[in-house]
Amino acid sequence: MNSKHYIDGQWIKPISSETIAVINPANEEEFARVPAGNAQDIDAAVTAARVAFDEGPWPKLSGAQRAGYLDKIAEIITRRLDELSRLEVRDNGKPYPEAKWDIEDTAGTFEFYAGLARKLDDESESEVALPEPGFSSRALKEPIGVAGAIIPWNFPMLMAAWKVAPALAAGCTMVLKPSEVTPLTAMALAEIVDEAGLPPGVLNVVTGLGPDAGQALIEHDGVDKLAFTGSVPTGSKIMAVAARDIKNISLELGGKSPFVIFDDADIERAVEWLMFGIFWNQGQVCSATSRVLVQESLYPALLQRLVEEANKISIGAGDEEGILLGPLVNAAQYEKVLAAIARGVKEGANIACGGDRPEGFDKGYYLQPTVLTDMSEDSWIWREEIFGPVVCIKPFSCEEQAVKLANDSRFGLAAAVMSKDDARCERVAKAFRAGIVWINCSQPTFVEAPWGGYKQSGIGRELGEWGLNNYLETKQITRFSSEEPWGWYIKP
Ligand code: NAD
Repeated sequence: MNSKHYIDGQWIKPISSETIAVINPANEEEFARVPAGNAQDIDAAVTAARVAFDEGPWPKLSGAQRAGYLDKIAEIITRRLDELSRLEVRDNGKPYPEAKWDIEDTAGTFEFYAGLARKLDDESESEVALPEPGFSSRALKEPIGVAGAIIPWNFPMLMAAWKVAPALAAGCTMVLKPSEVTPLTAMALAEIVDEAGLPPGVLNVVTGLGPDAGQALIEHDGVDKLAFTGSVPTGSKIMAVAARDIKNISLELGGKSPFVIFDDADIERAVEWLMFGIFWNQGQVCSATSRVLVQESLYPALLQRLVEEANKISIGAGDEEGILLGPLVNAAQYEKVLAAIARGVKEGANIACGGDRPEGFDKGYYLQPTVLTDMSEDSWIWREEIFGPVVCIKPFSCEEQAVKLANDSRFGLAAAVMSKDDARCERVAKAFRAGIVWINCSQPTFVEAPWGGYKQSGIGRELGEWGLNNYLETKQITRFSSEEPWGWYIKP
């Protein structure tokens, strides 16, 4: 693995000799080291991106020309699908089939934004109707400039693609800082854009710690836009810096998403979506439906079936066949999730299943799938994001109460509802205060549809045309074409 930063189309020796260990969460062994980038590395990367934007060809290319590069990037990712999926498994711990989805979706994201880049050629200018004779006006969409992207560790390459693909499609240049926990596929993306022949400085990748490289990136004067996915506390710090410097931001933050299940729901269907909604990616999913509300008459039977299935889940290293639950991403996250469960129990929650390291695993950050019950609505465990395979489940009596409990959160990323009554699903979907709502399912995500949260779950939307708009400015050009004098200045 490369031990350099990718800056201005070259692999550059880091300023500092400090490095960060990359650990395989399945066996706790270090298998790579990456540079711990500092403010000087970031400065070099932002300068390269600035020059590429201000003087380079990239923003002036047609959308179709930029789309050609994005398609090439998608092609190379697809060619390297197996290798990149294996890298993601080693870096993050997720089961191989899920890593493969991520990498396929990564390629799909570049393809999708190639399509939108082509459309921009026709749609980047629109007429604005003016009431005043003699004037005509147009609105133009233009790239916002240099974007700084900071991403988390739960879907490493996919989260990079959600930012890099629309930014490049729009004509922006970018500095990407991946999570220090899972930096490897972002470095692979640098190799890929290099092979695709992207002009120097258009995408720069610097690895490093949040408080060092990350902080330097958000504070850099040469950055016009900050695109962040990660936790609420870091998002809040980024927003404070952006407020000071008046930088454009988009924030995709955490969640504690509710899943409301009515008593007419098919119990097996409900269990299937509940399992997926909280245990895929080891529950380390921003939109995980981690607060489950079940109508009273269905509650005992549903809880029993959920516990039966959770106890049967196959746990193991992500590269083993037939595994559904891999290790958590690192020691810190593992300790955090165990501490959250302990706090829940101390507050009065009962462990219906799980709560501990599974038997037979001496090494690796493995945790049993955990179902907690009987917590109060005010308890920390019910209200805060745990980011692990831990679900809190509660009964409710009526629709009104379910909606009230679902919306009683500082988060508003996602929400799900299940019922055979379509009208009820529709009512509840509209009543949810959340940016993403699933009816009769939980989690399926499509690059075409807007993604982002209400309340403290974020600002702005990624994916679809909304994702492209994150990287576009709007300019008006107004022309006066009358021979008549305008009339304010009357010659003396
Ligand atoms: P995190 O906030 O700890 O770190 C995210 C990124 O921010 C990392 O690259 C980190 O190095 C960087 N960072 C940390 N401090 C920084 C600073 N002071 N300045 C600049 N950058 C800094 O989050 P995480 O633990 O990596 O990810 C988990 C969180 O991400 C969860 O809360 C999850 O819900 C959220 N998430 C949200 C979405 C979404 O789409 N809404 C998707 C995935 C993850």
